[in-house]
Amino acid sequence: MKLGIDAGGTLIKMAYIEEESGSIQYRTFPASHIEAVADWILKLGPAEVCVTGGKVKQLEACGVQPLAGIVEFEATYHGVRYLLKETGTPLESFILTNVGTGTSIHYLSEHTHRRVGGTGVGGGTIMGLSYALTGLADYEELVRSAANGSREGIDLKVRHIYEGAEPPIPGELTASNFGRLNMLAALDKLSPSDLLSSVIGLVGETVATTSVLAAGQFGAGTVVFIGSSFIRNDLLKEAVEGYTKLRGAAPVFLENGAYCGAIGALLQL
Ligand code: ATP
Ligand code: MG
Repeated sequence: MKLGIDAGGTLIKMAYIEEESGSIQYRTFPASHIEAVADWILKLGPAEVCVTGGKVKQLEACGVQPLAGIVEFEATYHGVRYLLKETGTPLESFILTNVGTGTSIHYLSEHTHRRVGGTGVGGGTIMGLSYALTGLADYEELVRSAANGSREGIDLKVRHIYEGAEPPIPGELTASNFGRLNMLAALDKLSPSDLLSSVIGLVGETVATTSVLAAGQFGAGTVVFIGSSFIRNDLLKEAVEGYTKLRGAAPVFLENGAYCGAIGALLQL
């Protein structure tokens, strides 16, 4: 058995080849349950393991002995190229944005790749800010609740400022995330769903805007978005998709994009 592991700050992602079908299978564990991960791996029996990500040392401390290691960004690049080929999406040069716990932004062309920047606003912000505002810590519950929320009374749009006048930029753009202070202050109790939906909007718009600025800098027309933050979070996907298009770039979301690092590690074996 060959097993690629991406031990990230929040989630441990695995990609392995199933003997019978020969196809790649995927598994995810919370990084906080690292002993359960090690147990699962050790129960597989003899396995060739390649690891990447920030939690590698913790896995090793639990008895996992990898055959090889690969730098996180290298693994991610290999995984992205593999998935693009698999899905028949021919892209020569593009911006790659990995929305993990934090967000990192890369430029890839046919022969080169480099990390061009990032933002601390990412999936971890969705978790932490949501908890601070609503007390909700469960990811699935949080994204379900956010889907029923409205940002109308929380986010200030350009059209709210240019009330009755023609704005110089699209009125639907957010002028200020969480900026409708007058509306917020008038309410006795804020709706958790509305707050969660606005947190996801804030993260999505920040991620999309920084990615599109990077695309402009490198003359790239496409942004490929990956990372577990998009798992069952259509609201984030829609916010990122809408804002990326609105700002003039083409967004691409890869199925299994959460597993790029794990796939890259697997391909190393
Ligand atoms: P990094 O690469 O920054 O070290 P990571 O690789 O662990 O972190 P990802 O797994 O790509 O990051 O994404 C983590 C994010 O995915 C979380 O912050 C959260 O928004 C989202 N997420 C998706 N599923 C879950 C889950 N079951 N539990 C917690 N967070 C989840
Ligand atoms: Mg990661």
